[in-house]
Amino acid sequence: KRAFYIGRFQPFHLGHHSVITSIAEEVDELIIGIGSAQTSHEVNNPFTAGERVMMIRHALEDIDVHFYALPIDDTLQNPIWVSYVTSRTPPFDTVYTNNPLVIELFEETGVTVKQPPMYHRNEYSGTEIRRRMLEGEEWKHLVPDAVADVIEEINGVRRLRRVAGTD
Ligand code: ATP
Ligand code: MG
Repeated sequence: KRAFYIGRFQPFHLGHHSVITSIAEEVDELIIGIGSAQTSHEVNNPFTAGERVMMIRHALEDIDVHFYALPIDDTLQNPIWVSYVTSRTPPFDTVYTNNPLVIELFEETGVTVKQPPMYHRNEYSGTEIRRRMLEGEEWKHLVPDAVADVIEEINGVRRLRRVAGTD
């Protein structure tokens, strides 16, 4: 059994980690789609696709699942998005997502969609973590240690603050 899980992972956090831990118990292989792969250096999308690949690879070292982390650029047209995704991924039978647009697009093509339970959504949220980084609040406890290390290596908080600024 092979499944697909998609997110922007800006950054990859402990909510994602929990979901993947439970999906890993149900499937043999997991394709992790890194969405909006072409965007980076923006206040809502600070990290590059390559940096997000690195976060996921290091964060999932402790999880017993074969996974493929694949960057997926945005398409300009939602109706072709599902066929675009499947043209770039190994075949899969189930999609795990809570994103309403992703649910709609896959269900329209007849793919089974499962909605994983939310883990502490108030704090384990990319939006909340980026807000904390900008405000100088604690955020490292909301991501796997390996992700905090990657963000430090790339000086990610400084980047986020700079791209949030104006001249
Ligand atoms: P952002 O606030 O930037 O949108 P996010 O936390 O929603 O970030 P995404 O990369 O957009 O993260 O989410 C990828 C997938 O993970 C989505 O299906 C989303 O619903 C799900 N997800 C996000 N946070 C959690 C969480 N705490 N528990 C379970 N699923 C989550
Ligand atoms: Mg989201």
